[in-house]
Amino acid sequence: MNDEQRQKIKAMRLQGFGYKRISDAIGLTRDSVRGYCRKNGLDGYGKELAKENKKVIEEEFLFILCCNCGAPLEQNKLGRKRKYCSMECKREWEKGHRKSYIFHCEYCGKEFKSLGTKKRKYCNQECYTKDRFWREEDAKEVAMKILEFKKVNHLPKWLKDLLISNTEV
Ligand SMILES: [Zn+2]
Ligand SMILES: [Zn+2]
Repeated sequence: MNDEQRQKIKAMRLQGFGYKRISDAIGLTRDSVRGYCRKNGLDGYGKELAKENKKVIEEEFLFILCCNCGAPLEQNKLGRKRKYCSMECKREWEKGHRKSYIFHCEYCGKEFKSLGTKKRKYCNQECYTKDRFWREEDAKEVAMKILEFKKVNHLPKWLKDLLISNTEV
């Protein structure tokens, strides 16, 4: 194992890569990668490691090694500094690191995750359409069910708000 390989292992581990992925990238066996990591405090759960070491990565490796595959980067003197060796690596890295946000659908109330988008109100297109255009039908359906003492499966958020806000009238 040479210095370049050691540096790559460290960089990739700190970014949360698994042993298999690293050994494939630098051409060593999985066991020797793992052995090295154990000896150097780079074992443990990848994602945690990446979180803890965000600063180290930024200071030590950013603009030196590709954020995604650990390949050495050549920086141009002019222009923006590169973080990835290629467009593919940029895309792949961003795909794996997009933040996910949790929302509650305004129509059906179901919890859903959204990758990379901070503002979403509905879990899918159908709920969006229903919430915008089906209000009357929904109200009718809910009213009928209540009259027949049937269980109401879902109460649209706007109707719930309406019912709660009018309780004292
Ligand atoms: Zn790369
Ligand atoms: Zn929904």
